[in-house]
Amino acid sequence: FRIQKKICGNQKNGQFFLVSADLFLDAEFVALADDLSKTVDYGAVCLFIKERMETHPFRLIETAAHFLAQEILLAYPAIQKINLRLHKPDAPIGLPFETVYIQVEKGWHNVFLSVGSNLGDRESAIQTALWKLRALPDVQVLKQSDLIQTKPYGYQEQGDFLNGCVFLKTIKTPRALLRTLNQIEADLGVNRSTKIHWGPRAIDLDILLYDQLILDEETLTIPHKDMKNRSFVLEPLSQIAGYVRHPVFHKTIGELWQELQGCADQAGGSNG
Ligand code: AMP
Repeated sequence: FRIQKKICGNQKNGQFFLVSADLFLDAEFVALADDLSKTVDYGAVCLFIKERMETHPFRLIETAAHFLAQEILLAYPAIQKINLRLHKPDAPIGLPFETVYIQVEKGWHNVFLSVGSNLGDRESAIQTALWKLRALPDVQVLKQSDLIQTKPYGYQEQGDFLNGCVFLKTIKTPRALLRTLNQIEADLGVNRSTKIHWGPRAIDLDILLYDQLILDEETLTIPHKDMKNRSFVLEPLSQIAGYVRHPVFHKTIGELWQELQGCADQAGGSNG
């Protein structure tokens, strides 16, 4: 549908935009509920987009498209994914053209995190980190494993850790999620200048799995490196993600955990 909007401050009457969106719903959830309130009224979504477009100032259509996609996902929980196109049919192009548009795809992603702490009040640091995650509108913390006490991995001259895992849904990209986790770590007093690799920390938050994504960048590796050799990751993770498949090893978390326990038994019980 068409919306007239002033997108730049110096335009008197504004210009026309055309918005189109594909909404992907959890059809089974809606069908099983057989309840009109559980589905999405597409007329209401159109009015929602119009209202958001008209009341929010944007300089760039890229910003507007991202904002709209995010707002729709947050306002309509039954929508799992959205593919939104924001057309600018009156763009200043000195040639005949049909349309130009920006397209944004956003959706909810399934993420597993590990949480750990071995400094100060460890349990309270973990609960505060989870509370900060829960407070974010674009994160839904859905499951939490038990916290287990483990011996330090790598550098041994430090206290025992409390470790656990969390299942959440988020519309953040992996990099945006990492920035958020680093910010929470910083708020809780992690000293990243420490020279000790695998050294003591008030809180450590790592992304273990992000859907079935495989990513290998300088500052972010998903699935988390070496998770298949870490009992302090696999033990709590198998409680909440036993049937989830590791995208690189093609084995479930439960299978990886059993294998690691088998290795530990053969090596005389060490949980290295
Ligand atoms: P550490 O203090 O050992 O947890 O290392 C934290 C750094 O590891 C972060 O600043 C990230 O840049 C990097 N990193 C790489 N992959 C991941 C991941 N999957 N989750 C969290 N941090 C990661």
